[in-house]
Amino acid sequence: MMFAAGRQVLYRNIDGPRLACARPCRVVSDDERGLLLWLARGSAMLVEEAVDGRGVRDMPFAEWIALSHRVIPARWHGPGLLKFIPPDADHSVWFFRDDEGRFTGWYVNLEERALRWDDGDLAGVDVIDQDLDVLVRPDRSWEWKDEDEFTERLAFGEHYWVRDEAAVRAEGWRVIKQIEAGDFPFDGTWTDFRPDPTWPVPTSLPPGWDRPPVPRP
Ligand code: MG
Repeated sequence: MMFAAGRQVLYRNIDGPRLACARPCRVVSDDERGLLLWLARGSAMLVEEAVDGRGVRDMPFAEWIALSHRVIPARWHGPGLLKFIPPDADHSVWFFRDDEGRFTGWYVNLEERALRWDDGDLAGVDVIDQDLDVLVRPDRSWEWKDEDEFTERLAFGEHYWVRDEAAVRAEGWRVIKQIEAGDFPFDGTWTDFRPDPTWPVPTSLPPGWDRPPVPRP
């Protein structure tokens, strides 16, 4: 399943049984290297919160899992973001930029691999976010991010959507080897990317955003 350049594609986080986040993106390219998506500043998106209005990061995880949740409309306030999803890999690579569109670093989002879906009018990818990340500066120095959060949640095995801690860390180390070697996509590719100025910024979520998650094998 390939996605045509320019098509709108939803990038969705599925946390266990629930949709936790949905971001409408634009397909920049989709080829043997992987799927490259553009998330424009100001895009409408959905984020999950507890029914008391707090987010998962506003409280201990022990508290979060005892509450009910809902998704609410939000906006992507940061500068536009490229998300690169390599094939058959349990991570995506985000290219951060400043307000002028200058590249400021990579962000390796560890996530259970993207499963694609195409409902005709709308298409997307579903990932399971694994919380642990790797921050990478333009000089390719790097550090782990959110390791404390990852460790905290692992203690709640029956509520946490990450099952295999060792697999997440191993994927992180695999990517760190690419980073240190300056291998693609950490070789300068797309750091000068400019979005097509005619792409409209999504002002709402397209119908079909709430379709069921793609079942995992
Ligand atoms: Mg993450």
